[in-house]
Amino acid sequence: PSFHELGLSEDIVRAVSEQGYTSPTPIQQQAIPAVIQGGDLLAGAQTGTGKTAGFTLPVLQRLLSQPNGPSDKTSRRPIRVLVLTPTRELAAQVQESVALYSKYLPLNSGVIFGGVGINPQIKLLKQGVDVLVATPGRLLDHHQQGTIDLRHIEILILDEADRMLDMGFIHDIKKVLAILPPKRQNLLFSATFSDDIKALADRLLNSPAMIEV
Ligand code: AMP
Repeated sequence: PSFHELGLSEDIVRAVSEQGYTSPTPIQQQAIPAVIQGGDLLAGAQTGTGKTAGFTLPVLQRLLSQPNGPSDKTSRRPIRVLVLTPTRELAAQVQESVALYSKYLPLNSGVIFGGVGINPQIKLLKQGVDVLVATPGRLLDHHQQGTIDLRHIEILILDEADRMLDMGFIHDIKKVLAILPPKRQNLLFSATFSDDIKALADRLLNSPAMIEV
């Protein structure tokens, strides 16, 4: 199937074509329709399989299909999608991909991670982003300082969840889960499936579609 046949809008397909992608990778063929349907997803995928586009493209499609995320006077542009990654390098890379794939869409994205000044991030969060990519520790810092509003998250993605657990982030992840609104779509990507990942998946996901490449 083509990207279009998988259910992606013209403006997304155009951005993807400009990247030189001619056809979806196996993980994209499975993940894109599953995520567009709106259910939870458990995906086994290594880096290099096209997993980033595999979750980003259908998530953008969902945001387009439901353009009016809940909004109130305190949050002009609510954060609707949260992507958690283990490292700042991966966070930056994922956000670059989100920006590329959403270049023709009325959506914006941002990234926050530790080890750099917090003030530019506070400014970014004040301006508002639809899609936020973050590392867990800095996300919690912002929450504790009251500089982030996570009440309107519709979709949560854990990218490279096995690495997050290896790096000791389980406690932070649990804290983040406790903050987020309970009604949301959850996507978990991991290269390996230890008992700890299975336990996290059990806790996080509701009747997930399962794909493995
Ligand atoms: P990832 O597994 O997400 O790290 O992606 C690995 C690389 O594959 C990235 O450089 C992407 O730009 C590229 N890529 C993703 N999807 C496709 C596709 N459908 N066709 C060709 N290259 C792709």
